[in-house]
Amino acid sequence: MQKKTISQRLEKVAAFVPAGSRLLDVGSDHAYLPIYLMQQGRIEAALAAEVVEGPFQSAQKNVAEHGLSQQIEVRLADGLAAFEAEDQIDTIVIAGMGGRLIADILDNGRAKLGPVSRLILQPNNREDELRSWLSEQGFMLVAEELLEEAGKFYEILVAEAGRQLLTEQEKRFGPCLLREASAVFQAKWQKELSKLEKALAQIPEEKEQERSAISQKIKQIKEVLHVRK
Ligand code: SAM
Repeated sequence: MQKKTISQRLEKVAAFVPAGSRLLDVGSDHAYLPIYLMQQGRIEAALAAEVVEGPFQSAQKNVAEHGLSQQIEVRLADGLAAFEAEDQIDTIVIAGMGGRLIADILDNGRAKLGPVSRLILQPNNREDELRSWLSEQGFMLVAEELLEEAGKFYEILVAEAGRQLLTEQEKRFGPCLLREASAVFQAKWQKELSKLEKALAQIPEEKEQERSAISQKIKQIKEVLHVRK
């Protein structure tokens, strides 16, 4: 059977899935991630969950075409409603959605997260809101990764049960990413800084509130990048 290749973004997400996991992939439009991990023999069981009929069908089709219908179950379901205690899910991936939507999905299914040992989250935006939710709900970030693919930056947040209070700076930039301050991190925030500076230059002086909000964001980035003026 053909080996599944996946994007660098999904490969990095996959790298955080512990060996032998019982995985739930929420928003699994093509089921690429569970197919990839199952083909590599790295997971024991997988549920691919999709809330929209079209992507659900394409996930089912892909799983069948890869001969994995016995190992990967595709369910039409909203968020964490996709699994029950008897599925013994221990690892959840939610990738490729907005940070607020990921936080909402987790919040709606909060009561089911007790037995889950690891959350691997890849928000496309609003990473700060997701980090706030995790910290407020008793999760700590055990790892973070930032990557660039096809000109876009992606953050991956890996959380496990534990207490972690985050500063506003850590919520925005990520505690692990801040510590590491990699070249990709510098590039991401330098790009964001240039964007915000251009936006600020377009806003008339009289729109003080708008200017001050953007100036504040610029200041935070400069602090992190150690830019002096
Ligand atoms: N996870 C894949 C990835 O990272 O490449 C697919 C990302 S795709 C942009 C987001 C998918 O999440 C869509 O197919 C969408 O229908 C699905 N989705 C959004 N909200 C969902 C929810 N509450 N429950 C299950 N799936 C959801």
